[in-house]
Amino acid sequence: MAEADEQLVFLDEDPSEEDLPVVDRPWTLLIVDDDIDVHEATRYALRGIEVLGRSLELLHAYSAEEAFQLLSRPNDVGVILLDVVMETNDAGLQLVDRIRSQLGLAQVRIILRTGQPGQAPELDAIRRYDINDYKTKSELTRTRLFTTIVAAIRAYDQLHRMDESRKGLEKIVAASNGLIAQHGLETFSEGVITQIASLIGVPAEGLVCARGGLSPDEVVVIAAAGRYGGMIQRNVRTISEPRIASALLRCLEERRNIVEKRSVTLYIEAVHGLAYAAFVDSVQPIHDVDRDLLQVFCSNISRCADNIHLVDELKRQAFVDTLLELPNRSAMLRELDIRLASGGDSSTAALAVIDIDQFSSINDMFGHRFGDQLLVQVAARLRGRLPDCFVARVSGGAFGVLCSRGTLAAEHFGSVFNDPLEVNGIEQALSVSSGIVRLADVQGDGSSCFQNAYIALKRAKALGAGHSVIYSGGMSDEAHSRSRILGQLQGANARGELFPVFQPQIDLTDGRVVGLEALLRWRDANGDLIPPGEFIPIAEQSALILSLGDWILRQSLDALRKLAERGHQQLKVAVNVSVVQLRQSDFAARLDAALAATGVAPDLLELEITESAAALGTGELAALLEDLRTRGIRIAIDDFGTGFSSLAYLDKLPADCLKIDRSFIEQLDGAQGTPITELIVPLGHRLGMRVLAEGVETENQLRILRQLGCDGVQGFLLGRPMPFEELSDWLSCSAPSFPAL
Ligand code: C2E
Ligand code: MG
Ligand code: MG
Repeated sequence: MAEADEQLVFLDEDPSEEDLPVVDRPWTLLIVDDDIDVHEATRYALRGIEVLGRSLELLHAYSAEEAFQLLSRPNDVGVILLDVVMETNDAGLQLVDRIRSQLGLAQVRIILRTGQPGQAPELDAIRRYDINDYKTKSELTRTRLFTTIVAAIRAYDQLHRMDESRKGLEKIVAASNGLIAQHGLETFSEGVITQIASLIGVPAEGLVCARGGLSPDEVVVIAAAGRYGGMIQRNVRTISEPRIASALLRCLEERRNIVEKRSVTLYIEAVHGLAYAAFVDSVQPIHDVDRDLLQVFCSNISRCADNIHLVDELKRQAFVDTLLELPNRSAMLRELDIRLASGGDSSTAALAVIDIDQFSSINDMFGHRFGDQLLVQVAARLRGRLPDCFVARVSGGAFGVLCSRGTLAAEHFGSVFNDPLEVNGIEQALSVSSGIVRLADVQGDGSSCFQNAYIALKRAKALGAGHSVIYSGGMSDEAHSRSRILGQLQGANARGELFPVFQPQIDLTDGRVVGLEALLRWRDANGDLIPPGEFIPIAEQSALILSLGDWILRQSLDALRKLAERGHQQLKVAVNVSVVQLRQSDFAARLDAALAATGVAPDLLELEITESAAALGTGELAALLEDLRTRGIRIAIDDFGTGFSSLAYLDKLPADCLKIDRSFIEQLDGAQGTPITELIVPLGHRLGMRVLAEGVETENQLRILRQLGCDGVQGFLLGRPMPFEELSDWLSCSAPSFPAL
């Protein structure tokens, strides 16, 4: 900055400027005396005199009161020659008091004159009223009067300048503060014009131009006020008044301020080789004080200009994805807002949110560097194949593509990734899912457009990898009902609407009840039972499943402890856990805490996990399950056979129990018979697991399962899910009837 400051030197007045006569204002003297002759004599004595290059202007008052009235009005009076004795013996002194304390005129210099030495005021009064000089009228010869007045004018001038600079500095501080708050170069530049104009006390009329870092030859007007208004964005050379263009260009070239008689051109240097020149016209000559102020203003303003760049840069960053140098989600939202608001081509335009399938697994497997490279390639592919579309990265592995033409067909996106990408020299086949929304179908702003695209994307994902779904209105209704359910579910536990039920699990070898599966129930405010299949997946999409999971676990363990107290020892309880819970880093610790708090032995707790848990990655999941098993906790694989990759990961997961899904048990009564169940039972046994059939509803199913060597059964035939007290009674009365099995 020091270097820049040094360059803020003022040029001498430009000799080439047309030589307008500069007439400085005269000094104003007020003569107060009740003797007309004194006025005359003074006028005569001071005729033709100049002080510090300026002439004198005399004002006259013939009484203290008249002088007071005159001084009460706006005036430039710098020195007062004041008679002591007028209306009264001390009318002059009284007037001094009123000038200083009532009118608050502190700068004006006062010379007291009196006819006789005896009328001199006390020394104390001279000090108190800041009286410049005291002379008897006889003492004031022409020369004496002249020197006295020169001294008084010098004193006044100094005081006046000090006061002006103080006011000016205050103005600069206020001006800089005002400008810092301006975000954006144009507003800033307009501000500069206004502030310069106000510093030198002229109307806000002027120009600011900028020399860009990239094309230094291009000097463009970036702000213009007053009669220059029409020149904005024009090249400086096209300004019709050559003196203005040349001042601006010279200022930029010589990197310094140019103060001419009736104009100022200030040089403002900013970062990255950018510089500005601000030109302001002045009808009055520009004084030294103002020059000093402008210099201070300039160094302040350079800092403001840097700030503007900083703000602009921050703004840019707020809308750019720095990894891919692509617009980000906020930029896409802004773009959508603009297009939706303008109407325009929105009848044919569409937004697609394209999500790389399995992106997080790819990241886990190959590392984040590879993931980043993949994203770079995907971005390049999208930009290359969809050149007319607005492409943005909207989240980790998802891109938004906004096309203005109606060519946005679902297949179109799929084909973009038909050929493999090359990442770090390796060919990588890629599948993407996409959710598409036509802007014409959007009611609302950019964010509702996004929301709809995500709803469609979710649908696409549910169909499996590589799918594309176009949003339709009905999807939103469903999404709304989901969010309504989530809202109601949030308070449900506090309102006591949730409760656990327990369904017995029977050992087929001896017919004894060996365990219970805890199942969550929700009876809403209207008394309707909402099935868990409806609300659990919604809870899984928010953190709510974590608190629900903790709660049902505690309820289950409490129930087991109470049943043990009532004589039903050695019962196990099976609790369903969601993959969201498994992802918690302190999941095992939470289980330990719940077991410790209820005093239940770990081997009486079984956790049911479904295949969705494989989303954790089989390696990580296997390690977690192994850790839980070393604590004694049992693991069951729930709904086995429904996921397509079951067999692929079954032998990798350490589990104790395999639960055959109800859909296969149902088939046992049908024409196809037993093939799948027949396979699953020995498979589970070979992997060292117990096999349990769920959803057993008929005697026939039970018989076949026994024949197949299934270890356990659960189903309506044997016992429905029951609230705790009902279950407790059931265990005491009905359970013993099973040995017949
Ligand atoms: P699931 O874990 O496979 O639970 C077995 C489901 O089968 C239960 O449905 C149960 O009521 C039902 N069921 C049992 N025997 C029969 C039968 O003989 N016939 C028929 N038709 N159905 C039978 P429910 O209670 O509606 O639960 C559905 C699913 O919701 C559960 O399937 C489980 O995945 C989930 N769920 C329930 N409670 C919880 C919970 O506390 N936490 C988690 N994460 N999920 C839960
Ligand atoms: Mg279950
Ligand atoms: Mg199940």
